[in-house]
Amino acid sequence: MPPPHETHDRVIADIAVVGAGAAGLFAATWAGRRAHAGGSRPTILALDGAAKLGAKVLVAGGGRCNVTHHAVSSDDFAGSTPGAVRAVLARWSVADTVAFFADLGVPLKREPTGKLFPVSDDAHSVLDALLRAARAAGARLAHPWRVASVSADADGLFDIRRDTARDADTLARHPAGPDADPVLRHDRVLARRLILATGGMALPRSGSDGGGYAIASALGHSITEHVRPALVPLILADAPPASTPNAPAPPNAPAAPAPPPPGVAEALRSLSGVAALATLRLHTGSGKRTHQATGPLLCTHFGLSGPAALDISRHLTHLRHTDAGAHLRASFLPALTTQAADAMLLTARALSPLRALCVPPHALPERLVRALCALAGAPPAEPMTSLTKPARRALAAALTDLPLPVTGDRGFTHAETTAGGVPLAELHLATMASRAQSHLFVCGELCDVDGRIGGFNFQWAWASGHLAGVAAASSLAQ
Ligand SMILES: Cc1cc2nc3c(=O)[nH]c(=O)nc-3n(C[C@H](O)[C@H](O)[C@H](O)COP(=O)(O)OP(=O)(O)OC[C@H]3O[C@@H](n4cnc5c(N)ncnc54)[C@H](O)[C@@H]3O)c2cc1C
Repeated sequence: MPPPHETHDRVIADIAVVGAGAAGLFAATWAGRRAHAGGSRPTILALDGAAKLGAKVLVAGGGRCNVTHHAVSSDDFAGSTPGAVRAVLARWSVADTVAFFADLGVPLKREPTGKLFPVSDDAHSVLDALLRAARAAGARLAHPWRVASVSADADGLFDIRRDTARDADTLARHPAGPDADPVLRHDRVLARRLILATGGMALPRSGSDGGGYAIASALGHSITEHVRPALVPLILADAPPASTPNAPAPPNAPAAPAPPPPGVAEALRSLSGVAALATLRLHTGSGKRTHQATGPLLCTHFGLSGPAALDISRHLTHLRHTDAGAHLRASFLPALTTQAADAMLLTARALSPLRALCVPPHALPERLVRALCALAGAPPAEPMTSLTKPARRALAAALTDLPLPVTGDRGFTHAETTAGGVPLAELHLATMASRAQSHLFVCGELCDVDGRIGGFNFQWAWASGHLAGVAAASSLAQ
């Protein structure tokens, strides 16, 4: 690979990629591949503040890395607009992702959920392939090289300054090995093209701590008004018992949502480790349903996690910002209405709730059924003939329409992605080129796009990183 031009205090690169995560590595790879296809060999430098690259690839999918999903559409994403997301996704398909990794010796397999994982079931195989591909395409990966600021100078070069104090601290804890890139000696990089791939704020200890927003802003971009954790576990807490009677509602006030029955949070939190298929429905304060998510729901010591809770989380947070009464309701029998569940319990009245609900087709976990019975005041092990009508109806409601006292979320430290970022309206969607700053490209989680659980966020990183890399290299030739 060609050495970058070096002076005593700076390095001059053709293309600098800031952030060598999924999107940045993809962008660096495709910049190199496109340039080589056109007969040129630009210097491509990927700078990352992390001591070790690829932290998120390695933790993804529980260490197996859910690389993509067999069916990806703009409906699987939030943020910006569906049309804008579609325009980017259309230029890099799931088949392209599959072929890319297969070419690198990492075949993917599809699981019954539609998620695609490496056949190896090991995220290291994905990260190794990404690093190999980037290096083979001529990219130099310098880390830790934390970018403090970027400005565009009068000659049209990007002047990239290092956060020397932070890197010194990182190097003190993780000394650079003998293969460390010589670029580490320098604190300044000048680049003809800049690709910003700094991610969002999820899992900040990985190095993605939102520093990229200031860089994008300094180069003329806006950041959405709100940047919030998405795919984030939810906290449950019971309201303290009211010590004084509620003031009467003023006349004509909208009907307040019925509060969750006391003890729901404690009941679900005590089930830590229990998982069940559930649908979580998001309602406005006035009761209108706006979103729902179906999938495994995991009870934890703090509240709720698992795909259903993670998928609905960004919509709840978003809605609550404008509607304090927005709330979630859970159904553990997603195929049944409350009325149908009541009818089912009536039909099965010779059985106990445990006998009726813990076997197929419902197959609910016994501890969950016991907890819901306790909330409804129904004895779990006695035949339902002994249930009063109100208790049976309360059980049907607890099974299908349980209000959840969600008081907050676990924040960026526990989130899998970020809602908010650079609006796609500020980018040319065929190239991810900035509309605010020439020769700047933006990709990955830094953009205002967030996908649901299932490999969609990586597909976004691949699609947007590919476009940015190809376009940055092509623009050098113009
Ligand atoms: C626990 C967890 C599990 C996940 N599992 C999945 C999954 O299975 N499937 C899926 O599709 N998605 C998953 N995701 C989401 C996915 O990891 C992200 O959407 C994706 O990694 C985003 O890629 P990115 O390159 O845009 O950002 P990142 O991967 O966050 O990479 C950004 C890089 O930029 C560097 N950086 C940031 N600021 C600077 C700076 N100022 N200077 C230099 N470098 C900087 C960071 O060190 C980092 O290496 C998961 C996320 C988490 C947290």
